[in-house]
Amino acid sequence: TIGENFNRIAQQFPDAEALIEVATGRRWSYSALNQEVDALALGLLAKGIAKGDRVGIWAVNCAEWVIVQYATAKIGAILVNVNPSYRQHELAYAINQSGMRLLISQTAYKSSAFAELITAVRPECPELREVIYIAEPSWEQTIEAGTDQDGTALIRRMTELSADDAINIQYTSGTTGYPKGATLSHHNILNNGYFVTETIAISQQDRICVPVPFYHCFGMVMCNLGATSHGAAIVIPAPTFDPALTLQAVQDEKCTALYGVPTMFIAEQNLPNFADYDLSTLRTGIMAGSPCPVEVMKRCMTEMHMEQVSIAYGMTETSPVSMQTRPEDDVERRTATVGRVHPHLEVKIVDPLTGLTVPRGTPGEFCTRGYSVMLGYWQNPEKTAEAIDAARWMHTGDLAEMREDGYVNIVGRIKDMVIRGGENLYPREIEEFLYTHPSIADVQVVGVPDPQYGEELCAWIKLKTAAAPLDQAAVAEFCAGKLSRHKVPRYVLLVDEFPMTVTGKVRKMDMRQRSVELLG
Ligand code: ATP
Ligand code: MG
Repeated sequence: TIGENFNRIAQQFPDAEALIEVATGRRWSYSALNQEVDALALGLLAKGIAKGDRVGIWAVNCAEWVIVQYATAKIGAILVNVNPSYRQHELAYAINQSGMRLLISQTAYKSSAFAELITAVRPECPELREVIYIAEPSWEQTIEAGTDQDGTALIRRMTELSADDAINIQYTSGTTGYPKGATLSHHNILNNGYFVTETIAISQQDRICVPVPFYHCFGMVMCNLGATSHGAAIVIPAPTFDPALTLQAVQDEKCTALYGVPTMFIAEQNLPNFADYDLSTLRTGIMAGSPCPVEVMKRCMTEMHMEQVSIAYGMTETSPVSMQTRPEDDVERRTATVGRVHPHLEVKIVDPLTGLTVPRGTPGEFCTRGYSVMLGYWQNPEKTAEAIDAARWMHTGDLAEMREDGYVNIVGRIKDMVIRGGENLYPREIEEFLYTHPSIADVQVVGVPDPQYGEELCAWIKLKTAAAPLDQAAVAEFCAGKLSRHKVPRYVLLVDEFPMTVTGKVRKMDMRQRSVELLG
């Protein structure tokens, strides 16, 4: 279990640094962190938290988030990660959908008045019995109550746990619809965290800088479990993402690895004083979540010194990672693909209609099977049955192609695929081409309903500053002779922003609806 693994690492490397919270200067060695984890675990036991009880955490990145993660794992409570950007309606949904008994939160962070929102939803959440606020008396008392105990209750509880028990509910990002509660076991996430960092050769020598949110699998699994399962240090540069504070933390804490979604690396590289930071201690890192522009990857490898930066592909439902590039891979593999299959997992690419495996180089639905596949969606057997088939294959909803060398590239999502006049069109391909236009800073292509063709293509374009406006005719002219006629967008919308999820992904569903409204 996660608790046993953490104890073993804390015994092996008691004095090694485990956790650094840059904003407050607080630091924990593995043995100090383990002591605090045990105190909280015992404090929660004293409150009567039973194995399988749902305990929520609703906070921005802080050391206590990590302490809560390991304390709940040690007592077999199911941690429910609640996205800090949720507001009243979504919070009530997460509390009630998971059947949360205890919520651990913080009173406020900047404009997020967590305590106020919790007070507002409590009448709608009858099963929520208690709220603990980090750094407030309710937290201190829980820790104190735990510190006073001799620890046998915890040892007893830990021996009752199985690695296959549910330990975590993570809501998906909600890129394609309402978030679903992926339910994960110790075995799922501990192994995935271990293999993700094993793949980039993380050891007790490493210091990983984590600007990604802990509530998401990228933070809590790929970083936290990935770091602690190898005895590495977790560096929290700031409570929420800030490009300058991230690079400052890399420099001051001499980090060897940096994580992020591509938009974070872009923001860091675009800082006016980017060149002033000393990033020479960096060696590796992980970029995941959405496709990375080639230029951004090249700058990571040269100017940011992350020669071995790894691209990972995954989803909340698969703990998350199933594909990853390897340190020895060349730039081509690292930009054109999301790597090859992880140890102990199977993957296949199938025709979404027939379910048959397609030949290499043909797009189809990416499916994976093995230890990483979630137990299911929390209390949602219908959605679980749609996603995981009888042979335990997870159908990801992502379109991918497997190359001859076994490396896979993601072509897009099935839901984003546009069917125009019976022809399948992949927005990614068209976006990549339009991205080469000198006036276009960023572009997204979506399908809009059309009476004649079923769907037509609509391009949302962000222009570079000072670029002259583009219209459909100008875009069509740019595409002429280079892109097949049926791939040329029928409509062009000039916009300043795309609708994004908090994890930095474009919400194409919203764009489709908005396009219809905007086009009239
Ligand atoms: P929801 O399932 O609620 O619609 P989501 O799928 O965005 O939201 P996540 O589990 O956070 O929620 O993200 C997983 C998805 O992110 C994958 O299915 C894939 O579409 C995309 N993705 C992840 N990594 C990569 C990558 N390296 N390259 C391209 N796409 C990626
Ligand atoms: Mg998804």
